[in-house]
Amino acid sequence: MSEIVWTAEGCAQDGTLLAGADPKRFVSVDIPNLGSPAPKVSGGFDAFLKENPHLESQAYNEIKKCANCGKPCAVTMEICNACGASLAEVQISKSPNLFIAFIFGVDKAGFPLKISMRYETEDVMVFDDPLAITRAHVLSVPTNVYCPDIRSLFADPPSAIKLLNKMEDAAWKALCEGPLSSESWRRQALSAAGNALPVADLRHLNATDRMS
Ligand SMILES: [Zn+2]
Repeated sequence: MSEIVWTAEGCAQDGTLLAGADPKRFVSVDIPNLGSPAPKVSGGFDAFLKENPHLESQAYNEIKKCANCGKPCAVTMEICNACGASLAEVQISKSPNLFIAFIFGVDKAGFPLKISMRYETEDVMVFDDPLAITRAHVLSVPTNVYCPDIRSLFADPPSAIKLLNKMEDAAWKALCEGPLSSESWRRQALSAAGNALPVADLRHLNATDRMS
């Protein structure tokens, strides 16, 4: 099989669009026995905040909601990163910071907030991205720090790098104990060259890629 070449638009160069794939054909690795099958807080996000008004300042993100596709985009964006529509005329609005809901175990915010937890410590939780766009796509979220956007990290760089390293360690722990621990998943999801590498080398490659 020849290697797929992707265009900037996210399509294979030969025009193939990987939509409607049959999930049964993809090896998946179950989550470990973490968290709880039932939410800790029922009644929804708004009711939870009414009872916990001290969380208000951390509970909403400022966003620009794309008028074309509805995606909540960062306020610094000029073009929607889902559909490419201009955000120049879009007013800033607020959307629920769903990480607050995940951290406290709130059941819904207009839609169910169930997550697939892969790893957790006292101050980090790692779960499958509900909007995953790769075969192994986890979110690593600190639960004891509020960081509204990337600029907060530059206010205290030594603490920021510690935090980022902790988040990355947790994410790799989840990947190593999850998908990367499965021979059949590795064989199907990684390239032959990638599958031949030990996990430590995969992680190192990933870090080197990001720096280049
Ligand atoms: Zn859009």
